[in-house]
Amino acid sequence: MAQGWEQIDHGAVAVLRAANGGGYPYGNSLVVRGSGGSLLVDPSLALGGAEELPPVDAVVVSHAHEDHVVGLGEIDRPVHVHEADLAAVRSTRALLDGYGLPPAAAADMEQSLVAEFRVGSRPDALPVPDGHVFDLGDRTATVVHLPGHTAGHSGLLVEPDGFFYIADIDLTSFGPYYGDVGSDLEAFERSIRACAEVDARWYGTFHQKGVVEGAEEFRTRLQAYRAVIARRDAALTAFLAEPRTLADVVAHRLVYRPHVDTAYVDTVEERTAELHIDRLVRAGSVAEVGPGTYRAV
Ligand SMILES: [Zn+2]
Repeated sequence: MAQGWEQIDHGAVAVLRAANGGGYPYGNSLVVRGSGGSLLVDPSLALGGAEELPPVDAVVVSHAHEDHVVGLGEIDRPVHVHEADLAAVRSTRALLDGYGLPPAAAADMEQSLVAEFRVGSRPDALPVPDGHVFDLGDRTATVVHLPGHTAGHSGLLVEPDGFFYIADIDLTSFGPYYGDVGSDLEAFERSIRACAEVDARWYGTFHQKGVVEGAEEFRTRLQAYRAVIARRDAALTAFLAEPRTLADVVAHRLVYRPHVDTAYVDTVEERTAELHIDRLVRAGSVAEVGPGTYRAV
């Protein structure tokens, strides 16, 4: 897959649409340009080296994931990220630890962070809280904390253009990803609900769904995206018609299709399964019928 991007303007927001449409490991970065300042949001693998980047005053990172911080160590500009993901932008070690991988998979990921994503620690990265406003002169960009995917995952609302960037609430058919150590299923659902409340003209995602125009279309797609969570609950409940262990659920899979065979699959499946089992137990629809064994009630 080639690098490269095409600029698509939405008001003062330029979407740098990746040549492959934004499917992982690529993504669609943004440049927001106001009369008094400019921001590059989520430098992606599509952008190439630091010398090829569009000139901007500062960088904003929606969250600490490898595909959103490409080449960050080489970019000679201030970097801002929500305070809950700050440690993982300040230190590549903390980023790696956030995936919670077993040693062999962690070694693979570390290699990929350095060689493929050119991730570098940014000990000077600056924390931004929810509601922080970047004043760009004739426009503003406001941080909207949307946790769940990671603890610090945040969107950016650009006004008066009405462009709401929601990063990895990515509206894909894969559905919400909450497989990291800092991920939180309930928080993700709250963030999806919070997104639905925002009236904007455009809604921008980092991956292949790109930009959705209009609140009505957005809410329809958001509902379909959110429904994937309920489908995982339903699939798990059906699988637990017989008593099963967590290992059984991991082998059965809730998230990835059977052919997907990467080093992190079992880890992500396990964390996802735990989050779903926990809440089904709390809701009383699943019970622990023996040590580490669960069954639908
Ligand atoms: Zn992500």
